[in-house]
Amino acid sequence: MKMFVDGEFVDSHTGATFDVFDPASRERIESVPKGDREDVRRAVDVAERAYAKWSERPTGERSRLLFKISELVRREAEELAKSLTNEQGKPLGEAKSEVNSFANTCEYYAGLTGRVRGAHTPLSTGEGYFIVTKRPIGVVGAILPWNFPVSLMGWKVGPGLAAGNTFVVKPASTTPLTDLKIAEVVTRAGLPPGVLNVVTGPGATVGEEMLDNPKIQKIAFTGETGTGKRIMEGCAKYIKRLTLELGGSDPMIVCDDADLELAVEGAAWGRFRNCGQSCTSVKRLFLFEKIASEFTEKLVKKVKTIRLGQGLDPKTHMGPLHNAEQREKVESMVEDAKVRGAKVLTGGKRPKGEELERGYFYEPALLADVDYGATMAREECFGPALPIFVVKDMDEALERANDTIYGLGSSVWTSNVERAYYAAERIEAGTTWVNSPPIARAEVPFGGFKQSGFGRELGIEGLDYYYETKSIQVYDYTQGKKWHFPV
Ligand code: NDP
Repeated sequence: MKMFVDGEFVDSHTGATFDVFDPASRERIESVPKGDREDVRRAVDVAERAYAKWSERPTGERSRLLFKISELVRREAEELAKSLTNEQGKPLGEAKSEVNSFANTCEYYAGLTGRVRGAHTPLSTGEGYFIVTKRPIGVVGAILPWNFPVSLMGWKVGPGLAAGNTFVVKPASTTPLTDLKIAEVVTRAGLPPGVLNVVTGPGATVGEEMLDNPKIQKIAFTGETGTGKRIMEGCAKYIKRLTLELGGSDPMIVCDDADLELAVEGAAWGRFRNCGQSCTSVKRLFLFEKIASEFTEKLVKKVKTIRLGQGLDPKTHMGPLHNAEQREKVESMVEDAKVRGAKVLTGGKRPKGEELERGYFYEPALLADVDYGATMAREECFGPALPIFVVKDMDEALERANDTIYGLGSSVWTSNVERAYYAAERIEAGTTWVNSPPIARAEVPFGGFKQSGFGRELGIEGLDYYYETKSIQVYDYTQGKKWHFPV
């Protein structure tokens, strides 16, 4: 495939390419252009020219177009999902819901496009009035990770296009293919050429040029906290607008009055979906003493039923990790926990068998007696391993849950609504799910506290991050002038 600039698939100006691989077999899928700084500059110039017209389009027109985009993406979801499974590794069912989530996000913002919030209010002194309007920001650089390449592209371009911005998107180098296909579908739906461009290539050049380029007014980034720090630094040069969705170490607290069957399902889904590679995966499980052994027993039983395999096989529950480095990171976290006294209750090793040995597969692991100093308790464990901790009550659970640099998601499982509120108000995280595993919704703002980032995506609030607020003060001098110089 080629890069997508100005409505066309193009090569890098150098002609260089790099390969994309299937994590389930390590086989090469195809190659894409290895863009560099000059390719970014060209795409940015195109996006800047497109901005002049796109930002002036009536909101009703932008709204209709977003509805059309979501319709076309849904119609082509099957093919797009297969492409996503191939390059990312996730099971086809998960890939389909991810593609549909791109469509949902566009649809949601299509409905909001004409409902830009403003204000027309008298000044407090009675001298006139002020108007607050919203203007798009300009060219946005979206830098994407490989764990949800399609839905996270939607979280950025959905509100961004609705608000009238144009885009240069940089997909993760290991998952560029479906994002390129989506850009083509979106343009086929009628988006003017140049409004959405996708440049493929390394973070060190393509990503860095997006930070250095003064014509990019805003960066929307999802990825690792360390990379987020570098992005923030890079944005300082031109005071770029910035939203950062970074790592998480989400706690799940199961109280002694929870529906255990439901919570077991929630823990398994919340930790092992996408092979545990989600920023809001359940990453630390806290069980009240009273239910700890019954819950653990049920969870071990459930996790043993998870079937590993190639994502296109309909029998597969969990695909491979995304790459060798990811698997090694999880393995080293499990080893570190073991050295510190943890017991592996199930999984925690590479599976045997010709097919599974070809990919980056890893058996879903549950660990008990994990030391709070273990790396999997301290850092983000981005893969299928779950440490289980036993706590005596809610206050201990909350203290442990908040003992992290992260603050993205969290969940509390209880049949007592007061307990749920008590916990939700005290967990330092952008979202608390009550009796549910982490599921993002187009209408609910999403984002982090602490080092999980700042700014919000999704919801009405998510739209605000793609606008500048413009205030206009209008004075009626027939009532006399209130300011004098010299004072
Ligand atoms: P990164 O944060 O490094 O990558 C995310 C995106 O940023 C990619 O498109 C990457 O490009 C780009 N990038 C990298 N360096 C720069 C830079 N200097 N300037 C601009 N853009 C840059 O994540 P990784 O893919 O390397 O994953 C590493 C770890 O991050 C994982 O193990 C996991 O712990 C965490 N992670 C967390 C996610 C979350 O949602 N919280 C999502 C993905 C990863 P390129 O691909 O070309 O390097």
